[in-house]
Amino acid sequence: MDVLEIIQTSKKKDCAIFDGHQYRLHRANKQNICSWLCIKERSSDCHGTLKSKDGKVLHVSRHVCIPDVTATEVAKKLCTIKKRVREEEHSVSKIYMQEMGPLFNRGYDYVENIPTLPAVRAQLYRIRRKEQGIAVEPKNSQNIEIIDDDVIMEDG
Ligand SMILES: [Zn+2]
Repeated sequence: MDVLEIIQTSKKKDCAIFDGHQYRLHRANKQNICSWLCIKERSSDCHGTLKSKDGKVLHVSRHVCIPDVTATEVAKKLCTIKKRVREEEHSVSKIYMQEMGPLFNRGYDYVENIPTLPAVRAQLYRIRRKEQGIAVEPKNSQNIEIIDDDVIMEDG
């Protein structure tokens, strides 16, 4: 049986990824069977669903939305970046570049799906500060990482 890949969204919700589709958890029953709804429910009026049990895919219904492999790849990378930001000491910019860098080289499809570092930086810093138990904004410029990479990222 196919294994369902599950990542955490920024809202700490589980997001399931399968065959280029992303799903949000709808409900889990007593037998631990989870039903998932396509995240394109509103944007594409897609009623695609997936049922899983213990991380294995039981059933997938038909989607009207087009599977978006690039978007799911980017979502997975973003999840990895957040995890690394929580667990590692490397700078936020460095982690972002290490993870997203290879995707940028895969072409325009990817580039247009990748959030720029300026777009996600504030969120990543929030994650790091929370992890470090620091709830305040950085007080001096030494605490703010701004590197040349950022300038390059801005214009794509
Ligand atoms: Zn769908």
